[in-house]
Amino acid sequence: MISEKIKNQIQVVQGDITKLDCDGIVNAANRSLLGGGGVDGAIHRAAGPELLAECRTLHGCRTGEAKITKGYRLKAKYIIHTVGPIYSGTAEDAAQLADCYLNSLNLAKEHDVHSIAFPAISTGVYGYPLEDATEIAVKTVAQWLEDHADYAMQVIFCCFDARTERVYQARALQQ
Ligand code: ADP
Repeated sequence: MISEKIKNQIQVVQGDITKLDCDGIVNAANRSLLGGGGVDGAIHRAAGPELLAECRTLHGCRTGEAKITKGYRLKAKYIIHTVGPIYSGTAEDAAQLADCYLNSLNLAKEHDVHSIAFPAISTGVYGYPLEDATEIAVKTVAQWLEDHADYAMQVIFCCFDARTERVYQARALQQ
């Protein structure tokens, strides 16, 4: 059961995450952190080549962990790069996906981020079933917000397509 207070801290929008005006956006990156397709490619194109230069200094990122860079040409001040699991159908997938959300939120808080947008991590090329991934995303974020009730944080789930948005709306409102 998600309280009304927490529900008010969560927003579901459909659109392009690179266009959002919030303190931080999350990138569903790969372990190299050197760019890729999907949302990763869109973020690198929108942020500009300085982003790749900074990413080169980070020496990659393990699955479930998160690293932060500046936002460069984006409106967002920071980009938090996290690496979702490649779906394999094991219990480890769920734990690693939850870690992506937790580690991103913790890193955001360390940098005084008060509004953060997430894409639907792992649900594209990495093949995580959308309903399952959405449940983990919403539950993990809601729990983090409960656990940090004294910290003002607004979370935006940025859904690229209408189907993703419908699933997120259903999950976020249902619980
Ligand atoms: P992964 O490799 O983690 O599966 P993808 O980038 O393939 O990452 O897909 C993750 C999600 O991001 C998918 O729902 C995809 O539709 C979405 N996506 C792609 N481009 C954008 C964008 N510009 N803004 C927000 N979400 C996006």
